[in-house]
Amino acid sequence: MVIPNAYLRLVCGFDLVSRRCRTDSEYFRFAISKLAIPKPIHFEQPYVLMSVFHYQLLNRDRRTSARRGFFSTPHGPVQTPGFMPVGTQGTVKGLTIDQVAATGAEMILGNTYHLALRPGHETVRRLGGLHGMTLWDGPILTDSGGFQVFSLEAIREINEEAATFRSHIDGAIIKLTPEHSIEIQESLGSDVAMVLDHVVALPAERSKVVEAMERSIRWAQRCLNAASRDDQARFAIVQGGLDVELRQQCATELSAMEFEGFAIGGLSVGEPPPEMYRITEATCPYLPEEKPRYLMGVGTPVDLLESVARGVDLFDCVMPTRNGRNAMAFTDQGKIKIRNAVHREDTEPLEKGCPCLACRHSRGYLRHLFVAGEMLGPILLSIHNLTYYQRVMAGARTAIENGTFAEYMEMKKAGWGVS
Ligand SMILES: [Zn+2]
Repeated sequence: MVIPNAYLRLVCGFDLVSRRCRTDSEYFRFAISKLAIPKPIHFEQPYVLMSVFHYQLLNRDRRTSARRGFFSTPHGPVQTPGFMPVGTQGTVKGLTIDQVAATGAEMILGNTYHLALRPGHETVRRLGGLHGMTLWDGPILTDSGGFQVFSLEAIREINEEAATFRSHIDGAIIKLTPEHSIEIQESLGSDVAMVLDHVVALPAERSKVVEAMERSIRWAQRCLNAASRDDQARFAIVQGGLDVELRQQCATELSAMEFEGFAIGGLSVGEPPPEMYRITEATCPYLPEEKPRYLMGVGTPVDLLESVARGVDLFDCVMPTRNGRNAMAFTDQGKIKIRNAVHREDTEPLEKGCPCLACRHSRGYLRHLFVAGEMLGPILLSIHNLTYYQRVMAGARTAIENGTFAEYMEMKKAGWGVS
């Protein structure tokens, strides 16, 4: 029987004829498994050799570099600009997977470093990969472990072959090579794997930044060479510290390689926000137009909009959940510290019009939960903050479509009290 494209799009969530599909690939089997129809089947048109990981640019803002699009993955598309909640240990802290989905999140992030140490990537694979363990059926991105290895001061030695570090769990000495990072991420089964990069703490001598940047490029190529799954995309990471020239050189060299997307790494590590914006603004034009751009580990709501204005598509950050656990809520009027006595008998919700679970309750009740040490408090504020981030990004997407992104950003900043 012949399967119309419209039907495929409806059932699978994507258009098979425009994707790279070899009849023996896992991706093809995944697609077929979604079709509850007798085989053999024939498709309406022959396949076109194109990546399943396709970025579609829908709108471009006239006054800024903001762009509206979507990125297709085997687990469905992600609307961009978009925000990914962080699920460090295979869980977005405190939330069930249904609660995460209800915030509006489309793609989540898993942590290679933490999952490789515990429970171990082989165990994750045997438990069905990250998707099988968490039951998250949307796209997942995993980081390479590089940032944690370098930032947790676990690092023992770094040379051309590997980063050697001490496990924070049992003190074991572990060697992480680019090849091993990819092997781990293939076991985790994420839709997007990040390359292993060499991150330097800033400020650093220029020679150290150059060395790390050049090594990151060589390691990116090794990651590509080691990759074996065609249902997993690889994103490269641009390094180069706060040096525009190095950033642009790194972006140019990585852009020549076969990556499905590009990240800007090594920022949001304590430098002032204007420095981060300057580097982002200088780097984005050197990345391919037709691929998604991801700013790693960023940031506050204003950081997100300022970076969208400079051409970034994807973000991740622990801030909404971490701050939520610490009794701090993000709203259109700025941050609210819910423990403050002023909220003791406050009958208002955190944010009027917010559809989240937390905003069905009064601020007074939420304060009580924190004061009493009840676990529901951190859960509800995490839900609210993640929902808030998703609403800010959804607003940005609509504004870009309507050609009003600059006004949207100014309106949000005025509410947050940011100039
Ligand atoms: Zn809310």
